[in-house]
Amino acid sequence: MTETITPEQTGGRDQDFLAPAARLRGAGIGALEELTDLERSERLARMREGSLGSIHSWELVTAVDGPGTRMTVFLNGCPLRCLYCHNPDTFLMRDGEPVEADEILRRIRRYRNVFKATGGGITLSGGEVLMQPAFAGRILAGAKAMGIHTCIDTSGYLGANASDEMLDNIDLVLLDVKSGDEETYKRVTGRELAPTIAFGDRLAEKGIETWARFVLVPGLTDDPDNVENVARIIERWRPVVSRVEVLPFHQMGTDKWDALKLEYRLRDTRPPEPELVESTRAIFRAHGFTVH
Ligand code: SF4
Repeated sequence: MTETITPEQTGGRDQDFLAPAARLRGAGIGALEELTDLERSERLARMREGSLGSIHSWELVTAVDGPGTRMTVFLNGCPLRCLYCHNPDTFLMRDGEPVEADEILRRIRRYRNVFKATGGGITLSGGEVLMQPAFAGRILAGAKAMGIHTCIDTSGYLGANASDEMLDNIDLVLLDVKSGDEETYKRVTGRELAPTIAFGDRLAEKGIETWARFVLVPGLTDDPDNVENVARIIERWRPVVSRVEVLPFHQMGTDKWDALKLEYRLRDTRPPEPELVESTRAIFRAHGFTVH
């Protein structure tokens, strides 16, 4: 399967930067299957200590995933199963490409001047970045040591995996609050809301800048009561939340769900009308947030 995403689908992302090996999903899996037991256990040990990670791809983006021009790295593995996920091919860690943390840091170094000139940096996304905390921690520490702005994009569900040391190396967190009430959160993600709230509380305590994100899906997350509850949760972290982003659902990952033979339940869901996007943003604005 070739990982081609058009710029239209990605909001103008620069796809030249996709990791060539990651364009062919399956190449990595084949390689993993051929490993001997010893090689496999060595690889697992290296993943545990974080010198090796499993990634889907990386790309250079502007004005998404944080400020300035950014190198966004998509890590494989996610404990959630969001009905609207655009990257279901990142669900499983074993489907990713094994990549050295040092290799990623070498690439980051190459773009250092671009990051500096644009006020950008790196963003670790996924999948769920906190599935691979040791690997992510190394990259964040390495980037920080180069003076580069660091960001993670996370659901917060595995927030307990983030050590204080790791958080010290993070400048910005994009925290997805996928719903405001337990029941809807569970319907959307298959998991519980509480860990996200706990992680947000921790970010607020540590004073780490946070952009809260909410995906607006008609018929699933758009109930004003649900949105109001999201806003109330984000209020807990007010001093550190510098913006709230309402991201309108759109059909982007359908082909991937089909290719993976997974049941895609939002096939008939349409993107929200501009009026609904506006009224949802207004709810967050009414709570005094800067909303995008
Ligand atoms: S948390 Fe992100 S990667 Fe994981 S299932 Fe949800 S949308 Fe997909």
